[in-house]
Amino acid sequence: MRVLERLDELYAIGGGPGANRPHGSPAEDEAHRRAASWLADAGLEVEVDRHGNLFGHARGPASGERVSDTVSDTCWAGSHLDTVPQGGRFDGALGVVAAIAAVERVGIGSVVVFRGEEVGCIGSRALVAAGDPLPRAFLELHVEQGPVLAERDAPLGVVTGIVGYARGELVLSGHAGHAGTTPMVGREDALVAAAAEILRVREAALAIEGAVATVGQVEVEPGGANVIPSRVRLSLDVRAPDAERLEALIAAIGFEPSYRVEPAQFTGAARQALRDAIASRGLSPLELPSGAGHDAGILASAGVDAAMLFVRSLNDGVSHSPDELSSDEDVELAVDVLADALVATTR
Ligand SMILES: [Zn+2]
Repeated sequence: MRVLERLDELYAIGGGPGANRPHGSPAEDEAHRRAASWLADAGLEVEVDRHGNLFGHARGPASGERVSDTVSDTCWAGSHLDTVPQGGRFDGALGVVAAIAAVERVGIGSVVVFRGEEVGCIGSRALVAAGDPLPRAFLELHVEQGPVLAERDAPLGVVTGIVGYARGELVLSGHAGHAGTTPMVGREDALVAAAAEILRVREAALAIEGAVATVGQVEVEPGGANVIPSRVRLSLDVRAPDAERLEALIAAIGFEPSYRVEPAQFTGAARQALRDAIASRGLSPLELPSGAGHDAGILASAGVDAAMLFVRSLNDGVSHSPDELSSDEDVELAVDVLADALVATTR
């Protein structure tokens, strides 16, 4: 299948191990060039916007004009081609090659390849912020990056929405002292205090359904093996399915977010079109939230009728890793469903 061959081609671009096409790298540029050539081969009108996002618009068979005169009444399908360092074969790339295949097959809609998804959805955010014309609907096919579909024995899932998240930090202060001569009683050890805070962060998330909270970085000062820590910085990454729960989690932990992204819900006809396309193949359309951010969330927040189709991740759902895997059969099925939904979503 050409979709799989193209995934291999993209995977090879940055060199191994894994996929290496970080945003702003020559490898991301090369991937965009490769995708542009595939768009042209598919007979689509290739366009690059001022933010670097790549488009391929379907053209009418008779006139050669775009199927829609204005992009505002059409449906886009696509994803991103940048990766984390040593990322997976499918993350982003699958949504792009599948969208090219689907738009070529049905001859309507537009393919979009966003820049810089892995570094905060730079391309889609810039497009939305600049007030550029937006589509009526957007379909993003993506690997699940989690174990839910595999556990439920479902090849595909329809995403209900994208969790909101906030980042920040907790700083604990104590008093430095000699590790040998300062008695245990009376010490003000900032790292001991931080240990209790890390456990408290975990308890706060466990108390709110669907919430997660992670301390991923611990910086200890002065950092000597024989010195009592005087200052500790803990990074915070907290996520919840809706704004209410996100707010409750932030309040429970007690920190001032330095960065915050509101949750996005997929509630429109595009999500229904994906459900219908899956059901028409005799499968039950399993629905699940996304714990990771995606360009579809940015477009949904801007009022676009966005929806996402997840493909089952194998290997326990591992992602952002060379071990990321989906089966050829599931990928093929996903492309078929995407094409059906594209037709149903385009007026
Ligand atoms: Zn992705």
